[in-house]
Amino acid sequence: MINVCDINVMRPLLAEHGFHFSKAKGQNFLIAGWVPEQIAEDSGVDSSVGVLEIGPGIGPLTQQLCLRAGKVCAVEVDTRLEPILDMTVGAFSNLEILWGDVLKQDIPKLVQEKFAGLRPMACANLPYYITSPILSALLEAECFEAVTVMVQKEVAQRIAAKPGTADYSAFTVFCQFYAEPELLFDVPAHCFMPQPKVTSAVITLRTRKELPWQIEDKDIFFRTVRASFAMRRKKLQNGLAAGFPELGKQGAGEVIAACGLSENVRGETLDIPGFVAIANEIVKRKKG
Ligand code: SAM
Repeated sequence: MINVCDINVMRPLLAEHGFHFSKAKGQNFLIAGWVPEQIAEDSGVDSSVGVLEIGPGIGPLTQQLCLRAGKVCAVEVDTRLEPILDMTVGAFSNLEILWGDVLKQDIPKLVQEKFAGLRPMACANLPYYITSPILSALLEAECFEAVTVMVQKEVAQRIAAKPGTADYSAFTVFCQFYAEPELLFDVPAHCFMPQPKVTSAVITLRTRKELPWQIEDKDIFFRTVRASFAMRRKKLQNGLAAGFPELGKQGAGEVIAACGLSENVRGETLDIPGFVAIANEIVKRKKG
């Protein structure tokens, strides 16, 4: 197997194909072999798993996934990488590469078609410029057992944040609504070429088999979450009144009181059951 993380292998390989890194495509390739190995190992991928990889690049993580998985499906947008991937991972019979933008894929359909009889997981060193849309699409697809990704460390901390902390955000609630996050390990900038300006981290999101809360209306729930974080350090009442003008300030106050919360409560201190209670109360009022 070609050691694509060895810089003395990678450099001539890229040069041979006239390949130049695209910043616009978020291309920071791994040059530390322990990283893809550790990601694949910690992802829990084994022969019973079908794994979707996003952005194989020149294939360091792809190799490690192919060594473990029942099947790997890798989606790559940059077709200049085709002849290189041919050399680095072309010999794996359990690999299929799909050329295109992952955000344009029908992910549930892809999983159904490619991973019949396998446990679907997703695993990737994500292009950082579209981390949130990709993670959102993977979680909203509601078809993966686990999603293990490398992202900027600050994004990983946001995903795993606890209520009331500075990192806790609407994106935290979105991710934790669908999955339970676990921070795995940090990856310093010198493990990449070219080096990014920030430290990275690997995080795994184990998706919830059943949602442990009763949600009346998912759209209203996420509207509630967005409204609650739109005015940080302000009272929840103001955020809700702005996000749901039909409630008005008085109605927002009544919703908060009906949930047994203090009138001074701030949105960013609520946990998910707290947001669910508020959202369900808003739905009740809209119906009533
Ligand atoms: N997996 C490789 C590694 O770890 O060295 C490359 C990771 S690099 C951070 C991100 C990869 O995602 C690049 O190969 C890039 O071309 C690809 N990519 C960027 N945008 C994409 C998109 N919208 N859909 C699919 N792949 C994309």
